[in-house]
Amino acid sequence: MDRINLDYASAAPVDERVIAEMGKYWREAIGNPSSVYGAGEEAREVVELARTRVAGLIGAEPRHVIFTSGATEANNLAVIGTALRNKAKGNKVVISALEHMSVLNPAKSLTKQGFELVTVPVDGAGVVDLDKLRAAVDSSTALISVMFANGEIGTIEPVKEIARIARAKGVPFHADATVAAGKVPINVAELDVDLLTVSSNDMYGPQGAGALYVGPRAKMQPVILGGGQERGLRSGTENLAGVAGFGKAAELAALEMADESRRLTGLRDRLIEGVLGSIGDAYLTGHRVKRLPHHASFRFEWVEGESIILFLDMKGITGSTGSACTSKTLQSSHVLLALGLEHGQSHGSLVFTLGRWSGEADVDKAIAEVPPIIKRLREISPLTGRGKAEAK
Ligand code: PMP
Repeated sequence: MDRINLDYASAAPVDERVIAEMGKYWREAIGNPSSVYGAGEEAREVVELARTRVAGLIGAEPRHVIFTSGATEANNLAVIGTALRNKAKGNKVVISALEHMSVLNPAKSLTKQGFELVTVPVDGAGVVDLDKLRAAVDSSTALISVMFANGEIGTIEPVKEIARIARAKGVPFHADATVAAGKVPINVAELDVDLLTVSSNDMYGPQGAGALYVGPRAKMQPVILGGGQERGLRSGTENLAGVAGFGKAAELAALEMADESRRLTGLRDRLIEGVLGSIGDAYLTGHRVKRLPHHASFRFEWVEGESIILFLDMKGITGSTGSACTSKTLQSSHVLLALGLEHGQSHGSLVFTLGRWSGEADVDKAIAEVPPIIKRLREISPLTGRGKAEAK
C-alpha cells in the first residue's frame, strides 16, 4: 500500500537536492571551521554560504543568523538567553497561550529564578488578544515571545502589530517561526522583530539544524558555553553537513515559496471543504483565513483524536492529533483549551499538514476515508452524545 503522508509538520522528507548538497561535505571531509589551515577556511565558507541563504529567506543580514541544533534550542536560547541578560531591566516574561513547549517550558523555568510569567490569551480562532498583550507589557518586561504561527491549529499571529507594541515599550520580541518559515514570506526587517526561530526540517532540510535570528538591538547571553563559536552565542563545532543542507533547503524554499504556497492553499481548501462538507458536528480549529497554506485542522465531537489517527494509519494515511492528550492522563492540549474549548471537545482533534510531495489524489483519499472512520468511531464511542451524531 502506498502510504499517504499528511503529517509533514511532524517530520518532512529531506529534499533530494538538499541530500546532494550535504553529500558533498560528508564525502569531501572538509575541516573544522575553527581550524586555521586551508580545510578550515573551506569549512568556514560552507557555513557562511549557508548563513547567507538562511538569512536570505527571512530578510536578515547573514551576521545576525546563529545556527543551532534545531528549533527547540533556538527557542531556549531566545527565551532564557534574553531574559537573563535583561534581568536588571525587569523580571517579567510575556508569552501567548499557544506557545510550543520549547518556549513555554523555558519560560516556566525562569519563574524559579525570580521571573514573573504572564500568559496572554487568544480568541476562539487562536489569534492573540492584542489589547491584553498591550496591557501586560510594561517597562519591567524582559521579553515578549509569541509564535509566528501555531503548528496545531495553523493560525498565523499578528506579528507586525506585536512588534509595534514591543517597540513602543522598548521590549525585545521573539517570534517562533518554526512552522511558518519557508511556507509564508517572512522579512525580519519589515516585521521589526528582534529574535526569530527557524527550523531546517520544516523546510525539507535535515533534522538537527535550526537557527535563531538575533537582530541588532537584541541583547542576550549564551545558554551553551564552550569554544565561543557563533559569535559566542552558541558554542560547539558546527554541524557542517547539517548547516549546508539547511542553507540549501532555505534557498529552495525562497525560490519556490510563491508557487508552492498557491498550490498548497488550493489543496488545503479542498481538504477543509471536503471534510467539513461530509461530516456533521465537525469544526475547523484555528483561523479560516489567517492560516498556514499547508495546514488543515479539525475537531470532531464524540471521538478521540488518537483513535482517528490509528484508524487512518490502517488505511495508509498518516495524520496527527496535534494534541498532548493521552488516554492515560486524559490531559488536553493547552492550545485547544486556550481556544475556549472544554476538555471533552479538545479530544477529537485531527491535524493534516500538506507538503512538497502532496497532490490532489492524497487529499481526495483523505476526504474519502475520514467520514466513515468518524462514523464508525461515533457508533462505538463511550463519550456522551452517542447516537446523536452520525456522519452525513
Ligand atoms: N516551535 C514550534 C511552533 C513547533 O511546532 C515545534 C515542533 N515542530 C518546535 C518549536 C520544536 O521543534 P523541534 O522539536 O524540531 O526542535
